[in-house]
Amino acid sequence: MALIEHRDVDEVVRLAVEANQALGAAGQGDLVWGHVSVRDPRGRGFWMKASGLGFEEVVASRMLLLGLDGEVLEGTGSRHIEFPIHGEIFRMRPDVQCVVHTHSAAANALASLGVPLRALSHEGVLFTHPDVPRFLRTGGLVKTKELGVGLATTLGDARACLMPRHGLVAVGESVATGVMAAVLLDKACRVQLAAMAAGEPISWSDETEAASKRDEIWNPPLLESGWQYLRRKALAAGVAAESAAIETSPSELEWIEENSGRIRTSLPNGYCVRPPDEACPKPDDCLACSHFFTGGRFLPVHRQQARTIDLLIARAEAEGLPAVANSHRRRGDRLRALIRSLEEPTCAATTHPVGRNSGDGSHLPAGTHRSVGGTAARRTVDGQQASTPNGVSSSR
Ligand SMILES: [Zn+2]
Repeated sequence: MALIEHRDVDEVVRLAVEANQALGAAGQGDLVWGHVSVRDPRGRGFWMKASGLGFEEVVASRMLLLGLDGEVLEGTGSRHIEFPIHGEIFRMRPDVQCVVHTHSAAANALASLGVPLRALSHEGVLFTHPDVPRFLRTGGLVKTKELGVGLATTLGDARACLMPRHGLVAVGESVATGVMAAVLLDKACRVQLAAMAAGEPISWSDETEAASKRDEIWNPPLLESGWQYLRRKALAAGVAAESAAIETSPSELEWIEENSGRIRTSLPNGYCVRPPDEACPKPDDCLACSHFFTGGRFLPVHRQQARTIDLLIARAEAEGLPAVANSHRRRGDRLRALIRSLEEPTCAATTHPVGRNSGDGSHLPAGTHRSVGGTAARRTVDGQQASTPNGVSSSR
């Protein structure tokens, strides 16, 4: 039983993280302000991110379990000061599993006009007839139990509530419906602002059409579809960010070029860092030369990158993104080829392929390059390889 409970908690924490990331992907963030909570399946309170993070930055380790009165029961980090928004709505609305509070600029702009919200587009029908409620007690922070109770009372049994001069609050009987309500109310406000900026709106859904469209357009399966799209969008954004981090970490060769200023030639097991104007001191014993730099300094980094790429491939496949998975797979293949070349022990190869130039036009030192194993890959004076079968080094 305990295991089942724990699994449920893990699932809720994962959903709470996804809710944050989806709100970020939907452009609902206000720097590090705004928050979403999910009710704890064991009745202890609700899960909410620690303060100081933007929606898209949230990971499971930054989630807090708060009691309904704000006491931190699990997790580390500071709680958001507006926790009473969540605690009091969860207390007053047993049907609610998810509470979203954002500082929607469009909601504030529309609320400032003092006009009813009109169903000018699909989104509006979710919040009209009757009009969306407005919490007028304060435009400041909802940081006390009293204000939290006031907000929950104003919300009543509605799906969302405007908070003039502050933002909005939206709720759902699931994470999907809570997040979608916040996103759709923001859009409904934007549509009306655009219309009012252009003129006086004269057409919107009446009560009958609004009720019909709620069933037709915003039934549970379609709300779920919208939520799943936001999840995929957030995932793609996260994958892109992780990919960018991998792409921008330097390769070993790049690092040596930047830091030594004299890298001349890349060899199968390392690099020749002989100064370009200096004659090769050991043309017959290249890999034993003091200028030979053994590869592998970045191997731990490369291996970690390869593991990260494997995770990205698995995640993209699980999410049904084959093009993204293939893109990662190609990069993973290149990286593993590099790792294999660096993992070969110095001088263990029986033959050596033509060294890759560093891009400055230099060539491998002329002469015979002998490996410890005693088999030579003979090179001619002009640097042409003479006896390397297939140009491929041996592997262990
Ligand atoms: Zn706020």
